[in-house]
Amino acid sequence: MTLADAEAFAVAQRWPRFRGEQVWRWVHDKGARTFDEMTNLSPKTRSDMAERAVIGGLTLAEVQTSKDGTRKLWMTTHDGASIESVLIPMGEHVTQCISSQVGCAVDCQFCATAKLGLKRNLDAGEIVDQVYLGRRLLAEVEPAARIQNIVYMGMGEPLHNYDNLITSLRILTDDKGAKLASRRITVSTSGLVPKLERLGNETVRPNLAVSLNAPNDAIRDQIMPINRKWNIGKLLAALKAYPLEQRRRITFEYVLLAGVNDSIADAGQLAKLLRGFKCKVNIIPYNPHPEAEYQRPAPQVIAAFQNECKRLGMSTYLRIPKGDDIDAACGQLANRSNGSPVVPLRIRKGPPPPPPVE
Ligand code: SAH
Ligand code: SF4
Repeated sequence: MTLADAEAFAVAQRWPRFRGEQVWRWVHDKGARTFDEMTNLSPKTRSDMAERAVIGGLTLAEVQTSKDGTRKLWMTTHDGASIESVLIPMGEHVTQCISSQVGCAVDCQFCATAKLGLKRNLDAGEIVDQVYLGRRLLAEVEPAARIQNIVYMGMGEPLHNYDNLITSLRILTDDKGAKLASRRITVSTSGLVPKLERLGNETVRPNLAVSLNAPNDAIRDQIMPINRKWNIGKLLAALKAYPLEQRRRITFEYVLLAGVNDSIADAGQLAKLLRGFKCKVNIIPYNPHPEAEYQRPAPQVIAAFQNECKRLGMSTYLRIPKGDDIDAACGQLANRSNGSPVVPLRIRKGPPPPPPVE
């Protein structure tokens, strides 16, 4: 529930409206996971509430830590589904990559999540709880670290779960709740054109990342079947019309696959395609996994591709793989354990960590 939903719920239960905000703040600001923790409510009120509502969420089942410090959090839902979220150290801060669905229906040929198919959408509570569990874990294992950025780049296509995506964004950015700045949140999509148009009209304004991954329709058709529905022309037209906040740019993600989309000519086509866009390009060297047969290009091919992009005036960033030894890197989330040691969990009870530093 958003704050407004919680207030409406309270009124519908014939409770005072302020009770909705009180309980909502306990959950989304103070991190309460049970009604019993809400110590400024009488025991009678708490038990009344517990009869009529549940505080939904996830259970943190396992944590794996990579040698580069990346942590993969395995979480289970009330109905036994399993999802993954990743805490990625970025200098002094941490970026958390969260999931929006159990599996994914989009079927990109290079992605391990695709092989799960779509099991179900996550509800808004399950989306935001990944952040709350991430904060709790960090408070326990690395008290000085703060989650500064959130990226919807875990399992699933966020725009296929549109309503829950929007509700989760409203909760995470509410200054009475999780207090994250919208400019610190990025939603990544494979390019669902009608939903992009809708997203542009919302009052919540996350950053936008688009998985382009190819410089032309022939290649994109082959690696992202969704391109046959909304091709590059339609996608870029929707993005041209997308209302960007001041000083913001669209991020284009480009998974570099050896021999598929990594030539100098591909870089040239990409530059032509994106001319005139306020954008940056994230080059993501393919992360291998058993479900696909692609290869990561050799380091000199990656460097040559990036140099050509730069020469042609594109602002590009190379996404160095993080957490690939525990299958936590981009495109490797698929409910698989590779035998790396799993750290037994001890989640401390008590006050949650303070909100992230802006
Ligand atoms: N479904 C959304 C967000 C999750 S995927 C989307 O596709 O944008 C996050 C990113 O990981 C996407 O840019 C995708 O292209 C990339 N990716 C998928 N599989 C990958 C792999 N095996 N190696 C590197 N990047 C991959
Ligand atoms: Fe789904 Fe994104 Fe993977 Fe494509 S890359 S299958 S949209 S999670």
